[in-house]
Amino acid sequence: MSRYASQRKGWLSMTNSAVHAVHDDDLQAVLDKLGLATAFGKGELRCKFCGDVMTWDNLHSLFPDGGSIKLVCDKPECAKALLQYLNARREQPA
Ligand SMILES: [Zn+2]
Repeated sequence: MSRYASQRKGWLSMTNSAVHAVHDDDLQAVLDKLGLATAFGKGELRCKFCGDVMTWDNLHSLFPDGGSIKLVCDKPECAKALLQYLNARREQPA
C-alpha cells in the first residue's frame, strides 16, 4: 500500500471510446466507481491478455468489454494486444 501512496505516474483508463490519463491518486476512486475496488484489493482481477494478477504495480489500462471492465497489465505485449484488440473492435462493431 505504501508503494501506491508513493508512486506518481499517470494511468491510462479507457471508458467507452474515451481515453483518460488518470493519476494514481484517482485510480482508487475509479476502481470504486466501477465497483472493482474490492476484487482488485483481493487480487481477483487479472490481465485480460496474459492472466497475471493485477496490482497497483502492473496496472496499465482499463477498458470496457462486453458490459464489464477489463484490466490490462503493463507488459509491452499486453499493451500491444490491447491496441490491436481495440482497433479490431472498432473496425468490426458488434
Ligand atoms: Zn498482461
